Amino acid sequence: MVEMGEPPWRGRQLAYALYHQWIEDLTSVTTLPGHLRSRLAGEGWQVGLPKISQIFRSHDGTERYLVESQPRQETVEAVWMPEGDDGETGDGSEDEAKPWHRATICVSSQVGCAVNCSFCLTAKLGLQRNLSAGEIAGQVIAVLARHAVEVGRDRVNLVFMGMGEPFLNYDNFMAAVRLLVKEAGLSPQRMTVSTSGIVPGIERFAAEPQEVRPKLAISLNASNNAVRSEVMPINRKWPIEAIVDAVREIKLRPRERLTFEYVLLGGVTDRPEQAAEVARLVRRSGLPAKVNLIAWNPGPGIEYSTPETGAVEAFRQTLIDAGVPAYVRRPRGRDIYAACGQLKRTVEQ
Ligand code: SAH
Ligand code: SF4
Repeated sequence: MVEMGEPPWRGRQLAYALYHQWIEDLTSVTTLPGHLRSRLAGEGWQVGLPKISQIFRSHDGTERYLVESQPRQETVEAVWMPEGDDGETGDGSEDEAKPWHRATICVSSQVGCAVNCSFCLTAKLGLQRNLSAGEIAGQVIAVLARHAVEVGRDRVNLVFMGMGEPFLNYDNFMAAVRLLVKEAGLSPQRMTVSTSGIVPGIERFAAEPQEVRPKLAISLNASNNAVRSEVMPINRKWPIEAIVDAVREIKLRPRERLTFEYVLLGGVTDRPEQAAEVARLVRRSGLPAKVNLIAWNPGPGIEYSTPETGAVEAFRQTLIDAGVPAYVRRPRGRDIYAACGQLKRTVEQ
């Protein structure tokens, strides 16, 4: 707006229309005078939400979207995971139109991924390109709009755990976070970014001001460097100790904890002695951390197996007994390939 010779507050009005009102076209930006709207349109500016081109619905309520980016061909994936009321009777405060009490939105940061973890379907795509800040934030706004989420009232968490490695698209990822916090009004304490352990990215992240810094999850996925280098080749570049040292620089908020994600590959990373080793590793790090266990989700062309239910529970119990908080992440939308690591373009267009 300043470049167009307009006062800076015109920019604020436009940002409000885009990120608060989720307007679909320039004519709806009624705070701007008509001549300015015409001028913007005349100069070729376009606004609006990214288009959700396909929707896949799971029996558990999860929805997976293919989100189109306007000027280019590729689609990226975003996921909506509502939590039902689990049969509890309502206290009357919830909205009849909303069959969920809280929900989690998962968005992508890149088209494909260059990291090449052996167990992940997204890796098979390779890196096609980075998403822009607008494309990352746009996925979130498109999903919020679809479910008529009332920001500030409804409990919605946001996870940057879709396709891609956010810390290999750091500037655009953080610019998207700033848009979502400062313009859309979402709280960074309700956001979690997951990284495979890109140390320079973690170092930059540690320097971000708390008011725009999401929480951090590290994909640990192995109990030592030997196994981790097998399943995550990137570990040869940035091994576990380097990651932990970088994470230590983050100034956590009161009660904030780090998350270590741990994908259980049947017979490969789910053994009892490995659970004990993870517990020692987490305790030795001295970090306030919890472990999220994820039973591996299968995908075509990947030669691992899903762990036995008993192995998952035993793994969790070993961690708990060693004083490490541990949770088992419930797989969501497995039937529509929306669960962790299953986001890959499974449709041809
Ligand atoms: N690239 C980032 C974020 C996206 S992956 C990262 O790797 O952290 C999000 C999570 O899904 C990671 O913890 C990853 O280890 C996990 N994941 C990948 N493939 C999976 C699969 N097939 N089953 C279960 N979890 C998987
Ligand atoms: Fe990339 Fe994460 Fe998949 Fe590894 S697990 S290939 S870093 S998306």
